[in-house]
Amino acid sequence: MTFIDQWLRSDIRDINAYHVPSSKNMLKMDAMESPFGVPEELKDEFLEYISQAEVNRYPDASAEELQATLRNLMEIPEEFGVLLGNGSDELIQLLSLACSGGDLIMSFEPSFVMYELVSKFAQLNYHGVKLDDNFDIDLNSALLAIKSKKPKLIFIAYPNNPTGNSFDYDAIIEIIKSTDALVVLDEAYYAYSERSFLKEIVHFSNLVVLRTISKIGFAGLRLGLLVGSQETIEQLNKLRLPYNINTLTQASANFLLKDRQRISNNAKIIMDERARLYDALSLIRGLTVYPSQTNFLLIEVHNAKSLLESLKDSGILVKGFAISSQLENFIRISVSEVKENNVLLGCIKDFYD
Ligand SMILES: *Cc1c(COP(=O)(O)O)cnc(C)c1O
Repeated sequence: MTFIDQWLRSDIRDINAYHVPSSKNMLKMDAMESPFGVPEELKDEFLEYISQAEVNRYPDASAEELQATLRNLMEIPEEFGVLLGNGSDELIQLLSLACSGGDLIMSFEPSFVMYELVSKFAQLNYHGVKLDDNFDIDLNSALLAIKSKKPKLIFIAYPNNPTGNSFDYDAIIEIIKSTDALVVLDEAYYAYSERSFLKEIVHFSNLVVLRTISKIGFAGLRLGLLVGSQETIEQLNKLRLPYNINTLTQASANFLLKDRQRISNNAKIIMDERARLYDALSLIRGLTVYPSQTNFLLIEVHNAKSLLESLKDSGILVKGFAISSQLENFIRISVSEVKENNVLLGCIKDFYD
């Protein structure tokens, strides 16, 4: 037995590490990244701007300018508090740190894996309520689970990853009303979705909304935000490590996020491509494409494993799911720009020919 084996908490030893596949020289369509980087014509100005960052100093601890930039970009009302995280993943973890031993985190299945993972890190209990056949919330089982399990924290991805749909709005309102738990609406895909719970924060003291800039073109900056009432954010802020948003992220985001027009144009391009891909893929016999409010599509296929292999051989990385999981016969593809989408489409067509 190695030192670490006998030293480490046994439940940590048993966790499977979050696996990121190697993507060298691959067309990356597995992680909902945006295809749009810093525009060529802005690169010099961008470099000039971030070159003024004082990397010898600690970052602005309260990140005031960045807070204002994000409030402006996402139209967050002045009366709400905003807590910044090193990616929204960090904020999901921060919320689990606010729970006590024995508390339970509830979410839905299938949904974002990080909710269960952080509950393990923090030695909390976890319960995933199964979604119905349309991947929507089964309100009865959700309310029953709330009654019997008494969750402390409920994560709801809206729209949901990996299914791509938005759950029934009124069902979520019922859930928020029925529980003492803090309910976290994770709106990572807000830019591609028709509705949001942001405005509901004024009505429910147990509601907070989580967002990120990862899915709108800035996954590399690692920046997420939690929006809630001032009182809620003020308390949760005590758990944030003092300088969690580094100087280069603050400077880069302040420069790049001010271009609201470009960001919304890019989202529009992705949504148009989503519609085009949805139609084209639906025409292929053997595929069932699910409606999406995100920048990805979930597709049911007959032979996921060999399709994934074939795409990989063609240099395309998409997401597959564990054997014997509910989504074993599904793949998830990020919607990219026209050229990349056409490459993917061509390969899938070839596979089924
Ligand atoms: C991608 C994703 C996140 C993680 O976002 P980061 O800000 O990159 O950590 C959170 N929630 C959901 C539902 C996601 O799909």
